[in-house]
Amino acid sequence: MIDLHSHSTVSDGLLTPEELVTYAASKGVRALALTDHDDTAGFIEAKVTADRHGITLIPGVEISVTWHRRTLHIVGLNINPDHAPLAKGLLEIRAGRHIRAKNMADGLEKIGIQGSLDGAYSYARQGIISRTHFAQFLVGQGWAPNIRAVFKNYLVKGKPGYFEHSWASLEEAISWITGSGGVAVLAHPGRYDLGRTNMLLLLEEFRNLGGSAIEVVTGSHTVEQYQEFAKLARLFGLQASQGSDYHGPGHNYMDMGRLPELPDGCVPVWQNWPGIDEIAMQPQMKAGAY
Ligand code: AMP
Ligand code: MN
Ligand code: MN
Ligand code: MN
Repeated sequence: MIDLHSHSTVSDGLLTPEELVTYAASKGVRALALTDHDDTAGFIEAKVTADRHGITLIPGVEISVTWHRRTLHIVGLNINPDHAPLAKGLLEIRAGRHIRAKNMADGLEKIGIQGSLDGAYSYARQGIISRTHFAQFLVGQGWAPNIRAVFKNYLVKGKPGYFEHSWASLEEAISWITGSGGVAVLAHPGRYDLGRTNMLLLLEEFRNLGGSAIEVVTGSHTVEQYQEFAKLARLFGLQASQGSDYHGPGHNYMDMGRLPELPDGCVPVWQNWPGIDEIAMQPQMKAGAY
């Protein structure tokens, strides 16, 4: 099984890179991309662990992008984390995250929630600060019963803890990824709520800027969306990717090792990657089989 989207404690996952890779191996994942938000610091630890388990680790990242005032996520696969424009771009996004966090805390303070900045940082373990860390703090303090509810009531557009932030441009993210030798993948397109017209515009712009693939099978798509985005990938001549977007026990859309096969007619993003064919040929579940 190939899983090209996952998170560790370097971003908003619950498992360290070592724990994540060990868990993936135990669930039958044979090739894994670590794609932390805006940070590649987990790669070496993950690579050492992957070598120990005999699984293939693909260096990755999930870059936060602002496109027409909406946030999109662009996954980079087979990147070179040391490529200077990529490293510098990610460093700037992480700096922006600190500023956004301060603004989020100010918003929460206005409705009487004290201490959320320090509180959120206490959940950020090794790398970036994210809304997930605010969510963990708020749930811990009893402001909401669970992560889902806390996002809905405090951390999304129009709510007190939301602060509109400008991330990288789509062009920057794609050029950092491709400039480093990697391929750019539009993450979980079904989550953007763009409407048909804007989705078509996005896919066209993404492809024209050098994007290679879209996530067709992801933990945050429904079975119907697998088919919908398989069709759109074909229409735009884009390859297809698959990834669980695993964030840790209880914090995930889909457990590891549960990804169904890409729908027929998809060209897998890994088609020409060395050594991966053998892994891709291993049996996988059919969509809807569980
Ligand atoms: P950030 O990049 O700091 O804005 O945080 C985005 C992360 O928050 C996503 O990658 C998800 O892991 C998490 N997230 C976003 N929306 C939700 C939600 N409704 N419920 C749970 N987690 C969410
Ligand atoms: Mn996340
Ligand atoms: Mn994402
Ligand atoms: Mn993700």
